[in-house]
Amino acid sequence: MNSLDPSTLVIRRMTVEDIPAVHEIDTLSFSLPWPERSFRFEMTENPVSRGWVAEQAGQIIAMLILWLAADEAHIATIATHPNYRRQGLGEKILLVALGVARQEGARRAFLEVRAGNLAAQAMYHKYGFAVTGRRPRYYRDNAEDAILMALDELDRIGGSMNAEETLAMIAKEVSVCEKCVLHRSRKLSVPGEGPAHAEIMCIGEGPGFHENEQGRPFVGAAGNFLTELLAQAGMKREEVWIGNVVKCRPPGNRDPLPEELTACNEYLERQIAAIDPKIIITLGRFSMSKYMPGAKISAVHGQMRRIGDRFVIAMFHPAAALHQASLKPVIMKDFAQLPGLLEQANSALKHSAPVLADEKAQDDPKQLSMF
Ligand code: SF4
Repeated sequence: MNSLDPSTLVIRRMTVEDIPAVHEIDTLSFSLPWPERSFRFEMTENPVSRGWVAEQAGQIIAMLILWLAADEAHIATIATHPNYRRQGLGEKILLVALGVARQEGARRAFLEVRAGNLAAQAMYHKYGFAVTGRRPRYYRDNAEDAILMALDELDRIGGSMNAEETLAMIAKEVSVCEKCVLHRSRKLSVPGEGPAHAEIMCIGEGPGFHENEQGRPFVGAAGNFLTELLAQAGMKREEVWIGNVVKCRPPGNRDPLPEELTACNEYLERQIAAIDPKIIITLGRFSMSKYMPGAKISAVHGQMRRIGDRFVIAMFHPAAALHQASLKPVIMKDFAQLPGLLEQANSALKHSAPVLADEKAQDDPKQLSMF
């Protein structure tokens, strides 16, 4: 069993490149796994398909496919890698996928689950799913019955809001959050700010003195420098969403501790899922580590990597340049490359057209809930 590290967990849309890893989880989880071509069909040809993966330290550890048809979200398959089960990962990916489906117009959700999978049924009941039927001897491997479950009001799991409302709700939650000790040193929490549909998110470390006073991110000297750096790259600060990995000020501007990063990560994940940016610019090593675990900022600054269906660019934190004068030209040079990197990212995303599959998906029913 491997431990889940929520501070480095990324839940994102599935891509064609993820298919081998997703297929492996499927094979390890089900006695009737889908063939790889079925996942390829879902990712490249099925217009109602929405694939999600959970990734930790570069490894895909859970997957989910949901079909969104009109106002109905049908969970087609969901599974967690056997090494990461019983840590709530299935629940996390389910909530993100249903929340985004709700933003895309879903009002109801449906799924089927093996009659013997009582743990999964209990979890679905917890979120308001009700049993609506039973299909006798549905599963071909052991003739087990399928339990049909439905959630008539998707709003009940908090997915009723659009991106603006979701971000506002998260801001309210963090203002009263006491999940880690940082709530003791905050004057005002700093949830982050910017357009709810920003294509670019800048993610820094944590609020400093001025941010703590004003409840807004990057408003001190480092913030002014960030505004300058963005302007140099042809961007207005108001066009990008800006936030931090922890929402409350660490005392004396110390580094956030692992348990604080873990506690606060859920808010950041929900913000990223709501905004769904094309590009994430990490400012400093803590947000960089989320996407490039083990990397050294001195080695990867200014570099862009594709992570799933978005790009991540690692940058030094603007405050670092203010503390260490020799870094200023380096960070300015990195930001000067931003227009070119953004063009590359946009072009890659535009042209990452689905790979055509030459095979049809099988229509085998899937059992659910290998959490
Ligand atoms: S830093 Fe995050 S987890 Fe900790 S109290 Fe603030 S909002 Fe809650």
